[in-house]
Amino acid sequence: MATASHLMTLPTKVLIGEGVLSQLGEFIEGPGGKRMVAVASGSKVRSKVKETIDSSLGGRAMWIEVAAADTKNVERVVRESAETGCIVGVGGGKSVDVGKLAAFRRHVPFFSVPTSASHDGISSPFASLKGLDRPYSVMALPPVGILADLGVIGSAPRRLLSSGCGDLVSKLTAVKDWQLAGRVTGEYYGSYAASLALMSANVVLEGSRRIGRFGADSVRDVVEALISTGVAAGIAGSSRPCSGSEHLFSHYLDSISPGAGLHGEKCGIGTIMMAKLHGLDWRAVRSALAHVRAPVAAAEIGVSENEVIESLVRASSIRPDRYTILSRRRLTRKSAAALAASTGVI
Ligand SMILES: [Zn+2]
Repeated sequence: MATASHLMTLPTKVLIGEGVLSQLGEFIEGPGGKRMVAVASGSKVRSKVKETIDSSLGGRAMWIEVAAADTKNVERVVRESAETGCIVGVGGGKSVDVGKLAAFRRHVPFFSVPTSASHDGISSPFASLKGLDRPYSVMALPPVGILADLGVIGSAPRRLLSSGCGDLVSKLTAVKDWQLAGRVTGEYYGSYAASLALMSANVVLEGSRRIGRFGADSVRDVVEALISTGVAAGIAGSSRPCSGSEHLFSHYLDSISPGAGLHGEKCGIGTIMMAKLHGLDWRAVRSALAHVRAPVAAAEIGVSENEVIESLVRASSIRPDRYTILSRRRLTRKSAAALAASTGVI
């Protein structure tokens, strides 16, 4: 019997290390490349890395400012980068997402240069943007190359790295949700991609005390684990191994409490509760997050009890096609409140 086919898209090269930003020019096209390069970044990041990037690209950099992760900025980058041969997204989140989608629309290569390790968008085929017809990520293509300068990423605020750990532990419940959907709905489930994503979650679940000391090795481990989860999504051909009920919870919170908490922080808190629904060791998730100084309670990110309860009850409605533990359990306000209280989230 023929099995269903699906397309895998993967980054072709990754350069990771201290000070590698100065090698960006070579990384992009090899020595001697002549075309202009669009560099999408926010103004803060730009002032930090401009000198290094300009000298590495030998005057070929065309800087385009990204002010927000929305479709207007994507359209502007598409327009302003028209004469360039590729797009580089430099930043924590928004510039990478905007650059990724702009490159996808222009059919030119995209290079990701993360300046922090706060979520897995740095390597995934997905972009999360405002102004789209839905509150979750859209599929684009993964970056052709990822250049991660550990010196730059290590100098970002610690909160961003902690948030990245939250996005990593979330693969635990994302994979469980995927497995459940495979059983219940017959949806494709790939055990290899699932194992790869779980390995990334385990980097934090098993190494949280060491990562929480925030040494150079912590930065490297988190960055590599985040890159690897993006690869898992590329192998799966969907965001399934990276995004389950805990992400739906986070996306719903985004819509009713915009600006409260970082993506990975919300996903981490969601993972504690979804782990309990799945019958997993939620206490281990909670203590790992605490060790890496990621928030474990709603109050820490300025979210109210009511917002947590509403998000738990309604999260699955924003993406009905995605079967998760929330589709199976159908929480009421009462059971949602009990779940959040019993796990210390409210
Ligand atoms: Zn995420």
